Parts: sequence; C-alpha cells; structure tokens
Amino acid sequence: MTAVQPKPSTPAVGETFDSLSPATDEVVGTYPIHSAADVEAAVERARVAAEWWDSLGFDGRAERLRKWKGVVTRRLAQLCQVVRDETGKPIADAQLEAVLAIEHIAWAGKNARKVLGKKKRPAGLLMSNQSATVEYQPLGVVGVIGPWNYPVFTPLGSIAYALAAGNAVVFKPSECTPGVGKWLVDAFNEIVPEAPVLQLITGFGETGAALTRSGVNKIAFTGSTATGKKIMAAAADTLTPVIIEAGGKDPVLVDVDADLDAAADATVWGAFSNSGQTCIGVERVYVHEKVHDEFVAKVVEKSKGVRAGSDAGAQYGPMTMPSQLNVVRRHIEDALARGGKALVGGADAVGDRYVQPTVLVDVPEDSEAVQEETFGPTVTIAKVRDMDEAVEKANNTKYGLGSTVFSKARGMELAGKLRTGMTSINAPLSFAGIASLPFGGVGDSGFGRIHGADGLREFARSKAIARQKFTAPIALTTFARKEKTDVLVAKLITILHGKR
Ligand code: NAD
Repeated sequence: MTAVQPKPSTPAVGETFDSLSPATDEVVGTYPIHSAADVEAAVERARVAAEWWDSLGFDGRAERLRKWKGVVTRRLAQLCQVVRDETGKPIADAQLEAVLAIEHIAWAGKNARKVLGKKKRPAGLLMSNQSATVEYQPLGVVGVIGPWNYPVFTPLGSIAYALAAGNAVVFKPSECTPGVGKWLVDAFNEIVPEAPVLQLITGFGETGAALTRSGVNKIAFTGSTATGKKIMAAAADTLTPVIIEAGGKDPVLVDVDADLDAAADATVWGAFSNSGQTCIGVERVYVHEKVHDEFVAKVVEKSKGVRAGSDAGAQYGPMTMPSQLNVVRRHIEDALARGGKALVGGADAVGDRYVQPTVLVDVPEDSEAVQEETFGPTVTIAKVRDMDEAVEKANNTKYGLGSTVFSKARGMELAGKLRTGMTSINAPLSFAGIASLPFGGVGDSGFGRIHGADGLREFARSKAIARQKFTAPIALTTFARKEKTDVLVAKLITILHGKR
C-alpha cells in the first residue's frame, strides 16, 4: 500500500493507495492505482457508451442530469462528509462548493439544447440560394483530470458540461480526493446504469498522464500550471485538444470610494477560507492611499476572529497537502527578509498541519509572495497612488484567473482593465456561482472555458451544413462559368462592398 500524504514520487502501478484525512492521518479509503492498460480499457468502454448517450438526445440527457442533480442534492450531507474526510475543510464549506456544483449540473442540462442545438444562419446575398445551419456535436470521450482543493465544484464544472453536450467522460480525481470522485460517479451510475457514460479511474500523475495519451477526444485539466504544461506537451503527440484551468494570484482592488467594511470582509474570507487553497482565492490587495490605513486596520481586526483548526469553532481546516506548508513558509519568510511586515501571523503561523491567518504589508512587488501562487491563508496588502497604479500592479503577474474590484463609481471600468478571465465587483468570487458565466483564465492560469454557454461549446465541435434550395441564377462553382458571369460578380461585389 502507498500512502497519499506526502505524495510518493513513484507510485507503483497495479497496487492500491490509501486516501488519508489531512486532519488526523486516518485512512479514509483505499483505491486502485490504475495502469495505462486500465485507462485504455476505460476509454474503449467510454467510446461505446458515448454513442448510446449521444443517441438519447438533449432531452434524454437533460432528464438524466436532472435526476443525478436530485440524488446529489438529497444526499448532500453524505457528500459533504466525504469531502471533509479527504480535505479537512469544514462541512459548511463543503456544502458551499457542492451547492454551486449542483447549480452547474442544473444549468448545463437545461441549456444544452438551446446552446448546442441546430440553428439557422443567414447565408448572405451571394449565397441566397443556400440554407445554412450549424449544430454542435459531441466530441466523443472527454478525459477530466481534477485537483483536490474543490473536489466537487471543480471537476463537475467540466464533467456536467461535457455530459450535457453528449460526451462520455473518464474522470481521474486527485490522488488526495478519490473518495469524492467515486461518490459522484457512483451517484451518476445509479441514474444511468445502462452504459459506462461516466467512469472513474484513480491513481497518481502517471494515471493522469496515461489518460492524456489514451486518445480521448479532449482533456479538461484543472490543477497546477506546472502539470498543465506537462499535459499540453503530452497531448501534442496525438493532437488532443486540452482545456487548462490552472493556478492564480488573484488581486483585490480597493478604490477611494469603496465600502471598506465589505472590502475587508471579502479580503479576509477570500484569502483565508479553505486555508487559502482556492485557485480564485485572494492573494494580493491594492488599496488607494487615501483609504489604505483604515482598510488595513479593518482587515487586521477581522482577521483576529479567524482561526485554523479542526474543531467546530475553527473557520478553516488544515492544509490538505503537507508539501504546501513549505511553499507557504518560504513565501512568508522571503517577504519578511525583503522588508515586509506581518501585521497578523508571520513565519510562526505555519505549523505542522495548520497555517494561521497571515497579513503582510510592505512586501516588494517582485517577491515570491506577490508573484507566485502561495495557495495558503496569506495575503499581501499594498498602498497605491491611484487606481491606474492598482491596475498596472494587479496585471503585472504571469497569472490571470480571477479578480475583485471594490469601487462605487468605477467598478465596471476597472474590471474591464484587469487582465483576468473573471472579475467580481463589490463582492468576492461571485462569478463562480453564476452558472451562465464562463470560467477560465489567461496567461499561466490557462485557457479554455468551463461553465455557461462557452463551457458547453468547449465540449462540442461545430458542424456547418449548407443546403442548396434552388439553382443559383449566377452559377459560380462550375467550369461552365461564363466570362460575363465574372464581370457581373465583380460589379455586384463593388456595389455591395466597394463604397469609400
Ligand atoms: P496538480 O497539478 O498537482 O494535480 C492535478 C491533477 O493532475 C491530479 O489529479 C494529478 O494526479 C494530475 N497529474 C499530475 N501529474 C500529471 C501528469 N503528468 N499528467 C496528467 N495528470 C497529472 O494540482 P493540485 O495540487 O491537485 O491542485 C492545486 C492547483 O490547482 C493549484 O495550482 C490551483 O490553483 C489549481 N486549481 C485551479 C482551478 C481553476 O479552475 N483554474 C481550480 C482549482 C484548482
């Protein structure tokens, strides 16, 4: 048997591994390490299942997704316990991510026909004898590779949309949360027992790499930027398209007219909840100089009421991956060594399992704590002259996932200037809960979109059809075309498009 934590570097394929509680190290489940041959067999089964699933049509699939959503909802408490067992997060936080995921299953099922169904398109004057239609067909088999930090919300953001679009899915959850993955897949298979439309494979990076190489029609990956790069390189061999939902270094901008209480509350929750292990968590704040001191005082005050632990009074749990403790410690120590100050927490905040809230100020912009994803309950706060400087600094990282703006007068304007895939104004992370909005990043945060109409189209290929309704008076696509036809066409195009 191989223990999950810390991650072994070379797990043996064919064996099993234990999923451990990060709060107690207790074994909470044992799962197979699937080999490349296991993965290929799953993909083969999925190919057959995909044809059947596609044949159900939008309505048949929507009905199954609706029932699956119902099962997940009615057993919410059970699911949240599995999430808590494997991640250590409080039940209420597990519930929050599951609730958002349920909304996405509902939206994807309900809207797939509208977004992907056959539609007429205008054929244009020159081709007016044609009827033009476009429809979005499923890709076939989609491989979904997930992380551990939001083991329900994150993979379902791909799985629900891929299924609604008519694909079969082979899902490899993180090695830290295989039990959550199994729970979701089992619940689906209760509703869809006829064919293996959604299958689970478990294991470490090697199993994920086998899925990437297996000839699936698309890989939807959520995880670190480093792994995303490996997946993209491996997928190039078979020209397998990929979606990369990777890390972030999300900023909050606080303008001079902002509601400072709301901004401080959003900063504290956005930075510390889930122990900071949130891809769209708050990692940096840029505050207008006129309100900086007042804002910082509020953040410090609110942080005092927040504590890591596994007891009922704690607001967030342990770090899920012990190896992340070293990254968090290194970022804090580097910030302090380079002139930064810890107003809350500091290097001592990093324990063996838990990291207490840490608020850093005066940290140089080129330090790791400002440039690299910390993925821990820390936040840097910097004073800026004006919001132009805030935008410039916020945009000055290789990441570009989410962002938040607190401003009464300039919210929309500032949001438009931020180089991130998503921005919420005057509230934290709201875009993630709106099922109709696309979710994804730019730069090192990846590319491709899940959620909403864009998320459905990610898992479909457009099929264009032009049908001739009657023979055109001017035949263009024939060697029998006469010279006078070409003269006529030249005149026509000049009338249509030649105006100065
Ligand atoms: P990770 O990259 O270590 O692992 C993610 C998944 O990839 C796991 O299932 C892992 O087994 C698999 N994997 C590892 N090596 C592989 C390889 N060579 N080929 C194929 N699969 C491989 O990430 P993690 O530690 O599980 O998750 C944390 C990261 O995820 C953070 O960077 C966080 O920001 C990011 N994240 C991003 C989003 C988003 O939507 N953008 C959401 C949640 C988390």
